[in-house]
Amino acid sequence: MAGKNKKKIVLTSLSAFLAAAMLTMSTVFAFDKEENSRQHEQLEQENSEYQEELKQTNKSIKEKEDYSKELQDQITELTKKIQTSNDNIKKLTDEISEKQTLIDSKLEAIEDRLALLRSRLRAIYTAGDISSLEIILQAKDFSDFIDKMELVQSISAYDDNLIQGLQEEMEEISAEQQKLKDSKEQIEKEKKQLEADKTNVNELSKENQKIILELKKTKEDTEDAIKENEERQAELEKALAEYNKEMAEKLRLERIKKMQEQAAQNRALTEEDNQIVVESDGSYVWPCPGHTYLTSLFEEWRGASNHGALDIADGNIYGEKVVACWNGTVFSTNESCTHDYGKYYSCGCGGGYGNYVMIDHGDGKISIYGHLSGVTVVPGQEVVAGQLIGYVGSTGYSTGPHLHFEMRHNGVRYDPLTEYDR
Ligand SMILES: [Zn+2]
Ligand SMILES: [Zn+2]
Repeated sequence: MAGKNKKKIVLTSLSAFLAAAMLTMSTVFAFDKEENSRQHEQLEQENSEYQEELKQTNKSIKEKEDYSKELQDQITELTKKIQTSNDNIKKLTDEISEKQTLIDSKLEAIEDRLALLRSRLRAIYTAGDISSLEIILQAKDFSDFIDKMELVQSISAYDDNLIQGLQEEMEEISAEQQKLKDSKEQIEKEKKQLEADKTNVNELSKENQKIILELKKTKEDTEDAIKENEERQAELEKALAEYNKEMAEKLRLERIKKMQEQAAQNRALTEEDNQIVVESDGSYVWPCPGHTYLTSLFEEWRGASNHGALDIADGNIYGEKVVACWNGTVFSTNESCTHDYGKYYSCGCGGGYGNYVMIDHGDGKISIYGHLSGVTVVPGQEVVAGQLIGYVGSTGYSTGPHLHFEMRHNGVRYDPLTEYDR
């Protein structure tokens, strides 16, 4: 029990220290609400600029990626065309080679015919006319031979026609072959152009990829800047929230002070009113000293919900003193109920509590004392554990004299017995 007192003293000096520290801090780092707001607005402005930048960058990335896809399509198309060119070149090469085979066979036929001619010319040789023969036999190749043939008058019209025919056929095939060669050359030229185009598009694609990477880096930088900006905004908001909380606390304390001043004006507090009935040993004080019989417990079922409080009653309880169970500030009272007698209905006064006192203990806990016959405290008044606050009665919804003792923590009812070693 002494330990609890000690703890309280420690807490008191700690909060005094904190208050002093905060006072010092606020002197050094005075919170400037306007400056906070100005910086916040500036950050918001910057943020919207960053967002716009990010939007533009994303748009550019989208455009470049679309372009990249277009280039890839072009590369695919060019590759396909080059493949087709290769196929055509191969086909033409085959055809040219076929023509060559034909040409070769014609040449062979001409050779055969020439051999025949030579043997016949030998026959002519036996008959004389050596000069013509010499000329013909000295021919290096076929065309030379043809030229020299012109000089030879003794060749038969038959041989002349035959060789002429073969030559014409061969020339025709050669012309066809030349045509194929021209086509092949044309296609090779086109292919070269296609390959040059492909190289260009590849270059463009590479360049575009580089731009996309740069844009993505820009995007990352902008996102980092936005993150940092938002963190700074959050810091400013936190500082403002802390300031607002401080201000609210200051207002609350001012309000309590005002209520206390009002209370002092409304009622001249007597010795009787301020009496400490029971001295606290550092723990909670029983709200109705000398009367411990409980007619209703916290868990008692009342049709729709638990009673959620204790009812303290016995034959001698009417008019007995009711005391604060713990230190706190009275924040609400009712003294208007005149229906101080047992009844099986609610007169409606004080929401059924009749005359009551509500105390805020400052740690999220409040206590409520209902059905009182009299109230000796006023809202705003500070009370200590064991201090008189009123007298037991039967006001409000009460079947007979008793004290309705209720506790709440952060607005939720809990069993008051948990505060006592009982
Ligand atoms: Zn009433
Ligand atoms: Zn009750």
